[in-house]
Amino acid sequence: MIQDILPKIYHNEYQDIKPGENDFILVFHKNTVLVRYQDDKLRYPTLAEMSNVTCEYYYLFSIDDYKYFLAFPNFDSSDSNHASVPSGFDDEAPFVALDGYCYENISIFRTAASKHTAFAGITAHHLCNWYETNRFCGRCASKMVPDHKERMLYCPCCRNMVYPRISPAVIVGVINGDKILMSKYAGRAYTKYALIAGFTEIGESVEQTVAREVMEEVGLKVKNIRYYKSQPWAFSGSLLLGYFCELDGSDEITLDTDELAEAGWFSKDEIDLEDDHVSLTREMILKFKNS
Ligand SMILES: [Zn+2]
Repeated sequence: MIQDILPKIYHNEYQDIKPGENDFILVFHKNTVLVRYQDDKLRYPTLAEMSNVTCEYYYLFSIDDYKYFLAFPNFDSSDSNHASVPSGFDDEAPFVALDGYCYENISIFRTAASKHTAFAGITAHHLCNWYETNRFCGRCASKMVPDHKERMLYCPCCRNMVYPRISPAVIVGVINGDKILMSKYAGRAYTKYALIAGFTEIGESVEQTVAREVMEEVGLKVKNIRYYKSQPWAFSGSLLLGYFCELDGSDEITLDTDELAEAGWFSKDEIDLEDDHVSLTREMILKFKNS
């Protein structure tokens, strides 16, 4: 899956440090990232290559001994201490341009090599979204300040503390004898078969999310809900929790056409998807096919 980067090791312990000349710098502009290709592999700029750029840097994480930092626009001194100024992220032009580098859509992280570089990129984008959307306090609108001991932003005026936002969501493999339920999303770029999925709501257990999402999207009851595996899925800012369960009662599908384009029961022989070594959904479908 996307997070499986062995033998490389991802270290996300927070460190209050500044970048060195050879550390990697992630620069995002809307849903694009600044990269170049070297031998068909993604490369990010180093601090040395950013020497002409004025910006702030936030330490993100390390992979093995390589450190990754986020470059953040340096909002000028006229920037108010309150949330009335437009963010630099909303500007049409990126705040960094480097020779030999280009901005690519973050969807490249699904398929680009090396795998650990792609994982670093999408994880950095998740963190970038968090920093970007929490520049100002949601309670009193003052400027937020990074904490020095842990990954947290706090408000010096009202003491509001904001931790990174991760949204739990379920992926559900509904089994009916020798068949599994597969579906296609409505109105999305991803057009292959997938499994039922949805975000956990406040006040419910993850098992309750499983039962609710299956009922909402295809009108089926399920039983025997069993946890399988999880995966960080930064494309949607989520932590995905995979569950298998069994159909309980009628197998007649009532499709929620706002969410799904189609859904149906498939036997093992009818599944013609390959393992993409990226998504938990795909791994679960093939787990059923090969069981
Ligand atoms: Zn505040």
